[in-house]
Amino acid sequence: MINVAIDGPAGAGKSTIARAAAKELGFIYVDTGALYRTIALSAVRCGAVSDNEKIITMLNDITVKLGFADDGSQCVYLNGEDVSSLIRTPEISMAASKVSAIPEVRAFLLDLQRDIAKENHVIMDGRDIASVVLPDAKPKIFLFASPECRAERRYKELVEKGEDVTYEDVLADVNRRDYQDSHREIAPLKPTEESVMADTSELDLQQSIELIIRIIKENM
Ligand code: C5P
Repeated sequence: MINVAIDGPAGAGKSTIARAAAKELGFIYVDTGALYRTIALSAVRCGAVSDNEKIITMLNDITVKLGFADDGSQCVYLNGEDVSSLIRTPEISMAASKVSAIPEVRAFLLDLQRDIAKENHVIMDGRDIASVVLPDAKPKIFLFASPECRAERRYKELVEKGEDVTYEDVLADVNRRDYQDSHREIAPLKPTEESVMADTSELDLQQSIELIIRIIKENM
């Protein structure tokens, strides 16, 4: 199976770019952030976001599954409930960054991610795909852009969805999440030695997609 890993910080356009590249190449696109967001949603519902022990206990009582439609779109299920849109809020983004630092949460989601890659050609997007989940992935791509570019893009996305946010708040969130994601002890966000670096700061969406497809074709 062809397994492509795309890691990078929040808001670098990973999901949009990886989804488009997967469609072009006929691979399944796996958005692993959705899994951490689902655990976060469950933690919020249990009132457990700041209580690691409670979150770890909660893992015994929940099921998380991914589903893929014929058009390649991904749905995520929490105890059988489709929560795909409920997990796309700033509150859940922040909570996902927190719960993802818990080793038990990462272990809980590991096999699920590996099983999908065993059975399908995938482009898997996350933070630790190259370093932990799929160490044999080829190519391993580290996709990034400056914090200001990423905040600007995410701000526009949220406004389009009708969220009431300011650019300054979004930038602060981007910086805080970057810090949390890259300074945690377990699976910190960083490129591996084999990672091909892809900077999209100066590229528009179409150029970014073309860059990623080129990197994949040249390195798979
Ligand atoms: O990519 P997305 O913003 O949806 O991810 C939400 C959060 O989940 C990230 O901030 C990160 O902390 C965490 N995450 C992770 N490992 C992954 C994917 C996401 O720790 N493979």
